[in-house]
Amino acid sequence: MRIAILSEDASLYSTKRLIEAGKERGHEMYVVNYLSCYMNIVTQKPSVVYQGQLLENFDAIIPRIGASRTFYGTAVVRQFEIMGVFSANESQSIARSRDKLRCLQILAREGVRLPVTGFAHATTDVDGLIEIVGGAPLVIKLLEGTQGIGVVLAETHQAAKSVIEAFRKLNANILVQEFIEEAGGADTRCFVIANKVVASMKRQSVDGEFRSNLHRGGKSEKIKLTPEERDIAVRSARAMGLRIAGVDIISSNRGPVVIEVNSSPGLEGIEKATEIDVAGKIIEFLAQHTTFDKKRGRIQY
Ligand code: ADP
Ligand code: MG
Repeated sequence: MRIAILSEDASLYSTKRLIEAGKERGHEMYVVNYLSCYMNIVTQKPSVVYQGQLLENFDAIIPRIGASRTFYGTAVVRQFEIMGVFSANESQSIARSRDKLRCLQILAREGVRLPVTGFAHATTDVDGLIEIVGGAPLVIKLLEGTQGIGVVLAETHQAAKSVIEAFRKLNANILVQEFIEEAGGADTRCFVIANKVVASMKRQSVDGEFRSNLHRGGKSEKIKLTPEERDIAVRSARAMGLRIAGVDIISSNRGPVVIEVNSSPGLEGIEKATEIDVAGKIIEFLAQHTTFDKKRGRIQY
Protein backbone atom coordinates (compact mmCIF):
# COMPACT_ATOMS: atom_id res chain seq x y z
CA MET A 1 0.00 0.00 0.00
CA ARG A 2 0.94 3.64 -0.39
CA ILE A 3 0.26 5.38 2.89
CA ALA A 4 0.66 9.09 3.66
CA ILE A 5 0.98 10.39 7.18
CA LEU A 6 -0.37 13.91 7.42
CA SER A 7 1.97 15.46 9.93
CA GLU A 8 3.69 18.79 10.40
CA ASP A 9 6.83 17.20 11.72
CA ALA A 10 8.49 14.05 10.40
CA SER A 11 10.76 13.89 13.43
CA LEU A 12 7.96 13.37 15.96
CA TYR A 13 7.97 10.00 17.74
CA SER A 14 4.47 9.07 16.51
CA THR A 15 5.27 9.95 12.90
CA LYS A 16 8.57 8.09 12.95
CA ARG A 17 7.03 4.99 14.49
CA LEU A 18 4.23 4.88 11.92
CA ILE A 19 6.76 5.17 9.09
CA GLU A 20 8.86 2.41 10.60
CA ALA A 21 5.88 0.12 11.26
CA GLY A 22 4.62 0.63 7.70
CA LYS A 23 8.00 -0.07 6.11
CA GLU A 24 8.46 -3.20 8.22
CA ARG A 25 5.22 -4.50 6.74
CA GLY A 26 6.29 -3.73 3.19
CA HIS A 27 4.28 -0.56 2.57
CA GLU A 28 5.40 2.65 0.84
CA MET A 29 5.33 5.34 3.50
CA TYR A 30 5.31 9.13 3.01
CA VAL A 31 5.12 12.10 5.36
CA VAL A 32 3.04 14.95 3.99
CA ASN A 33 3.00 18.29 5.76
CA TYR A 34 -0.66 19.09 5.31
CA LEU A 35 -0.09 22.80 5.96
CA SER A 36 1.95 22.97 2.74
CA CYS A 37 -0.72 21.19 0.69
CA TYR A 38 -3.11 23.02 -1.52
CA MET A 39 -6.29 21.74 -2.98
CA ASN A 40 -8.18 21.88 -6.19
CA ILE A 41 -11.88 21.64 -5.53
CA VAL A 42 -13.52 20.64 -8.79
CA THR A 43 -16.29 18.22 -9.60
CA GLN A 44 -14.52 15.88 -11.94
CA LYS A 45 -11.07 15.55 -10.48
CA PRO A 46 -10.43 16.86 -7.00
CA SER A 47 -6.75 16.87 -6.13
CA VAL A 48 -4.15 17.72 -3.53
CA VAL A 49 -0.85 19.30 -4.52
CA TYR A 50 2.23 19.05 -2.35
CA GLN A 51 5.68 20.41 -3.14
CA GLY A 52 4.62 20.98 -6.72
CA GLN A 53 3.33 17.42 -7.23
CA LEU A 54 -0.11 15.89 -7.35
CA LEU A 55 -0.67 13.45 -4.50
CA GLU A 56 -2.14 10.54 -6.40
CA ASN A 57 -2.66 6.84 -5.93
CA PHE A 58 -2.57 6.76 -2.17
CA ASP A 59 -4.45 3.89 -0.57
CA ALA A 60 -4.70 5.42 2.86
CA ILE A 61 -3.83 8.46 4.95
CA ILE A 62 -3.14 8.72 8.66
CA PRO A 63 -4.07 12.21 9.84
CA ARG A 64 -1.97 13.57 12.72
CA ILE A 65 -3.49 17.04 12.80
CA GLY A 66 -2.11 19.50 15.36
CA ALA A 67 -4.64 20.85 17.85
CA SER A 68 -4.34 24.39 16.54
CA ARG A 69 -4.57 23.26 12.91
CA THR A 70 -7.97 21.59 12.96
CA PHE A 71 -9.56 23.85 10.38
CA TYR A 72 -7.01 23.45 7.60
CA GLY A 73 -6.04 19.94 8.59
CA THR A 74 -9.57 18.56 8.39
CA ALA A 75 -10.06 20.32 5.04
CA VAL A 76 -7.08 18.42 3.62
CA VAL A 77 -8.37 15.13 5.08
CA ARG A 78 -11.80 15.82 3.55
CA GLN A 79 -10.19 16.40 0.18
CA PHE A 80 -8.50 12.99 0.34
CA GLU A 81 -11.83 11.45 1.31
CA ILE A 82 -13.48 13.00 -1.73
CA MET A 83 -10.70 11.48 -3.81
CA GLY A 84 -11.66 8.05 -2.41
CA VAL A 85 -8.60 7.64 -0.20
CA PHE A 86 -9.26 5.82 3.06
CA SER A 87 -8.51 7.91 6.14
CA ALA A 88 -7.60 6.29 9.45
CA ASN A 89 -10.02 8.78 11.00
CA GLU A 90 -12.67 10.71 9.10
CA SER A 91 -12.44 14.50 8.91
CA GLN A 92 -15.87 14.86 10.52
CA SER A 93 -14.95 12.77 13.50
CA ILE A 94 -11.69 14.64 13.99
CA ALA A 95 -13.52 17.97 13.98
CA ARG A 96 -16.13 16.63 16.41
CA SER A 97 -13.56 15.44 18.92
CA ARG A 98 -11.59 18.69 18.89
CA ASP A 99 -14.30 20.66 20.61
CA LYS A 100 -14.58 19.42 24.19
CA LEU A 101 -18.16 20.58 24.55
CA ARG A 102 -19.32 18.91 21.35
CA CYS A 103 -17.51 15.75 22.39
CA LEU A 104 -19.22 15.69 25.80
CA GLN A 105 -22.63 16.36 24.26
CA ILE A 106 -22.21 13.42 21.89
CA LEU A 107 -21.06 11.14 24.71
CA ALA A 108 -23.93 12.26 26.94
CA ARG A 109 -26.42 11.35 24.22
CA GLU A 110 -24.86 7.88 24.08
CA GLY A 111 -25.35 7.45 27.82
CA VAL A 112 -21.62 7.51 28.63
CA ARG A 113 -20.96 8.64 32.22
CA LEU A 114 -19.29 12.08 32.39
CA PRO A 115 -18.29 14.64 35.00
CA VAL A 116 -21.14 17.11 35.62
CA THR A 117 -20.43 19.89 33.14
CA GLY A 118 -21.86 23.35 32.51
CA PHE A 119 -21.51 25.71 29.61
CA ALA A 120 -22.71 29.26 29.13
CA HIS A 121 -22.14 32.17 26.83
CA ALA A 122 -23.00 35.08 29.05
CA THR A 123 -21.43 35.93 32.38
CA THR A 124 -24.56 37.48 33.84
CA ASP A 125 -25.24 34.42 35.97
CA VAL A 126 -21.85 32.99 36.81
CA ASP A 127 -23.08 31.96 40.26
CA GLY A 128 -25.79 29.83 38.65
CA LEU A 129 -23.26 28.20 36.34
CA ILE A 130 -21.03 27.36 39.29
CA GLU A 131 -23.99 25.90 41.17
CA ILE A 132 -24.88 23.60 38.24
CA VAL A 133 -21.65 21.69 38.79
CA GLY A 134 -22.04 21.62 42.55
CA GLY A 135 -19.93 24.65 43.51
CA ALA A 136 -16.18 24.98 44.11
CA PRO A 137 -13.73 23.38 43.84
CA LEU A 138 -14.31 23.04 40.12
CA VAL A 139 -12.43 22.73 36.86
CA ILE A 140 -12.60 25.33 34.09
CA LYS A 141 -11.50 24.32 30.58
CA LEU A 142 -10.93 26.09 27.31
CA LEU A 143 -12.97 24.22 24.70
CA GLU A 144 -10.00 23.75 22.40
CA GLY A 145 -7.17 23.20 24.84
CA THR A 146 -4.84 20.24 24.80
CA GLN A 147 -1.90 18.78 26.76
CA GLY A 148 -3.43 20.15 29.94
CA ILE A 149 -2.97 23.77 28.86
CA GLY A 150 -6.19 25.67 29.40
CA VAL A 151 -7.41 23.41 32.22
CA VAL A 152 -7.64 25.29 35.50
CA LEU A 153 -8.63 24.17 38.99
CA ALA A 154 -10.49 26.84 40.94
CA GLU A 155 -10.56 25.94 44.61
CA THR A 156 -12.99 28.56 45.84
CA HIS A 157 -16.19 30.09 44.55
CA GLN A 158 -14.50 33.48 44.28
CA ALA A 159 -11.54 32.11 42.32
CA ALA A 160 -13.91 30.25 39.99
CA LYS A 161 -15.92 33.39 39.38
CA SER A 162 -12.82 35.48 38.59
CA VAL A 163 -11.41 32.91 36.18
CA ILE A 164 -14.73 32.43 34.37
CA GLU A 165 -15.20 36.18 34.03
CA ALA A 166 -11.64 36.68 32.82
CA PHE A 167 -11.91 33.94 30.16
CA ARG A 168 -15.29 35.22 29.00
CA LYS A 169 -13.95 38.78 28.78
CA LEU A 170 -11.31 37.44 26.38
CA ASN A 171 -14.13 35.79 24.43
CA ALA A 172 -12.67 32.38 25.13
CA ASN A 173 -15.16 29.53 25.07
CA ILE A 174 -15.02 27.55 28.27
CA LEU A 175 -16.79 24.80 30.08
CA VAL A 176 -17.10 24.37 33.80
CA GLN A 177 -16.84 20.92 35.34
CA GLU A 178 -17.14 19.30 38.74
CA PHE A 179 -13.70 18.54 40.12
CA ILE A 180 -13.27 14.79 40.59
CA GLU A 181 -10.91 15.03 43.52
CA GLU A 182 -10.98 11.31 44.28
CA ALA A 183 -9.24 10.64 40.93
CA GLY A 184 -6.11 11.72 42.80
CA GLY A 185 -4.52 13.33 39.74
CA ALA A 186 -4.62 10.08 37.79
CA ASP A 187 -6.36 9.07 34.59
CA THR A 188 -6.43 6.07 32.29
CA ARG A 189 -5.67 6.38 28.59
CA CYS A 190 -7.34 3.67 26.51
CA PHE A 191 -6.02 3.35 22.98
CA VAL A 192 -8.82 2.15 20.72
CA ILE A 193 -8.43 0.84 17.17
CA ALA A 194 -11.49 -0.36 15.27
CA ASN A 195 -13.69 -0.88 18.32
CA LYS A 196 -11.04 -2.68 20.36
CA VAL A 197 -8.81 -1.40 23.14
CA VAL A 198 -5.30 -2.39 22.02
CA ALA A 199 -3.31 -0.78 24.86
CA SER A 200 -3.98 1.11 28.06
CA MET A 201 -1.94 3.05 30.58
CA LYS A 202 -2.42 4.86 33.81
CA ARG A 203 -1.05 8.39 34.04
CA GLN A 204 -0.32 9.90 37.40
CA SER A 205 0.45 13.56 37.97
CA VAL A 206 3.29 14.63 40.22
CA ASP A 207 3.96 17.36 42.77
CA GLY A 208 0.39 18.19 43.75
CA GLU A 209 -0.61 18.80 40.12
CA PHE A 210 -4.14 17.54 39.33
CA ARG A 211 -3.55 17.20 35.58
CA SER A 212 -2.06 13.86 34.61
CA ASN A 213 -0.92 14.87 31.09
CA LEU A 214 2.53 13.53 30.27
CA HIS A 215 3.31 16.99 28.87
CA ARG A 216 2.69 18.32 32.40
CA GLY A 217 5.19 15.87 33.88
CA GLY A 218 2.80 12.98 34.53
CA LYS A 219 4.22 9.47 34.87
CA SER A 220 2.77 6.51 33.03
CA GLU A 221 2.55 2.76 33.54
CA LYS A 222 0.59 0.01 31.88
CA ILE A 223 -2.68 -0.97 33.46
CA LYS A 224 -5.26 -3.68 32.94
CA LEU A 225 -8.73 -2.28 32.34
CA THR A 226 -11.88 -3.47 34.03
CA PRO A 227 -14.53 -4.82 31.63
CA GLU A 228 -16.57 -1.69 32.39
CA GLU A 229 -13.71 0.66 31.45
CA ARG A 230 -13.09 -1.33 28.28
CA ASP A 231 -16.73 -1.09 27.34
CA ILE A 232 -16.86 2.66 28.03
CA ALA A 233 -13.74 3.27 25.92
CA VAL A 234 -15.11 1.36 22.94
CA ARG A 235 -18.55 2.97 23.20
CA SER A 236 -17.01 6.44 23.42
CA ALA A 237 -14.82 5.96 20.35
CA ARG A 238 -17.76 4.56 18.43
CA ALA A 239 -20.06 7.42 19.46
CA MET A 240 -17.48 9.89 18.14
CA GLY A 241 -17.14 7.90 14.92
CA LEU A 242 -13.41 7.46 15.53
CA ARG A 243 -11.66 4.34 14.30
CA ILE A 244 -8.54 5.36 16.16
CA ALA A 245 -8.97 7.14 19.48
CA GLY A 246 -7.40 7.83 22.83
CA VAL A 247 -10.18 7.72 25.38
CA ASP A 248 -9.33 9.24 28.77
CA ILE A 249 -11.18 7.96 31.80
CA ILE A 250 -10.92 9.02 35.44
CA SER A 251 -12.28 7.19 38.49
CA SER A 252 -14.99 8.96 40.40
CA ASN A 253 -17.10 7.87 43.37
CA ARG A 254 -19.83 7.14 40.83
CA GLY A 255 -17.55 4.87 38.81
CA PRO A 256 -15.40 5.59 35.75
CA VAL A 257 -16.17 8.85 33.88
CA VAL A 258 -14.88 9.90 30.46
CA ILE A 259 -13.14 13.26 30.30
CA GLU A 260 -12.10 13.35 26.70
CA VAL A 261 -11.63 11.50 23.44
CA ASN A 262 -8.55 12.30 21.35
CA SER A 263 -8.47 11.72 17.61
CA SER A 264 -4.65 11.89 17.23
CA PRO A 265 -3.51 10.10 20.37
CA GLY A 266 0.26 10.18 20.83
CA LEU A 267 2.19 6.92 20.52
CA GLU A 268 5.25 7.62 22.61
CA GLY A 269 3.70 7.42 26.08
CA ILE A 270 1.54 4.40 25.36
CA GLU A 271 4.19 2.37 23.50
CA LYS A 272 6.84 3.02 26.14
CA ALA A 273 4.51 2.24 29.04
CA THR A 274 3.02 -0.91 27.54
CA GLU A 275 5.72 -2.14 25.12
CA ILE A 276 2.93 -2.79 22.64
CA ASP A 277 3.53 -2.05 18.95
CA VAL A 278 0.58 0.32 18.63
CA ALA A 279 1.94 1.85 15.41
CA GLY A 280 2.01 -1.64 13.89
CA LYS A 281 -1.58 -2.23 14.90
CA ILE A 282 -2.65 0.99 13.18
CA ILE A 283 -0.90 -0.05 9.96
CA GLU A 284 -2.41 -3.54 10.13
CA PHE A 285 -5.85 -2.06 10.60
CA LEU A 286 -5.37 0.10 7.48
CA ALA A 287 -4.07 -2.87 5.49
CA GLN A 288 -7.03 -5.04 6.42
CA HIS A 289 -9.42 -2.28 5.68
CA THR A 290 -8.16 -1.32 2.27
CA THR A 291 -7.97 -4.90 1.02
CA PHE A 292 -11.55 -5.24 2.07
CA ASP A 293 -12.34 -2.03 0.19
CA LYS A 294 -10.71 -3.08 -2.99
CA LYS A 295 -12.77 -6.24 -3.12
CA ARG A 296 -15.98 -4.37 -2.57
CA GLY A 297 -15.00 -1.34 -4.56
CA ARG A 298 -16.32 1.08 -2.00
CA ILE A 299 -15.43 2.37 1.41
CA GLN A 300 -17.14 0.53 4.17
CA TYR A 301 -16.47 0.42 7.84
P1 ADP B 1 -6.46 18.33 27.78
O1 ADP B 1 -7.20 18.22 26.50
O2 ADP B 1 -5.71 19.60 27.88
O3 ADP B 1 -5.64 17.10 28.06
P2 ADP B 1 -8.32 17.32 29.78
O4 ADP B 1 -9.76 17.64 29.83
O5 ADP B 1 -7.94 15.97 29.34
O6 ADP B 1 -7.60 18.44 28.92
O7 ADP B 1 -7.72 17.59 31.23
C1 ADP B 1 -6.34 17.45 31.53
C2 ADP B 1 -6.14 16.61 32.78
O8 ADP B 1 -6.72 17.26 33.93
C3 ADP B 1 -6.80 15.24 32.74
O9 ADP B 1 -5.95 14.30 32.14
C4 ADP B 1 -7.07 14.93 34.19
O10 ADP B 1 -5.93 14.37 34.83
C5 ADP B 1 -7.33 16.30 34.78
N1 ADP B 1 -8.77 16.60 34.83
C6 ADP B 1 -9.52 17.06 33.80
N2 ADP B 1 -10.80 17.22 34.15
C7 ADP B 1 -10.89 16.88 35.44
C8 ADP B 1 -11.98 16.85 36.39
N3 ADP B 1 -13.20 17.23 36.05
N4 ADP B 1 -11.69 16.42 37.63
C9 ADP B 1 -10.43 16.03 37.98
N5 ADP B 1 -9.38 16.05 37.14
C10 ADP B 1 -9.59 16.47 35.89
MG1 MG C 1 -6.43 15.17 28.06
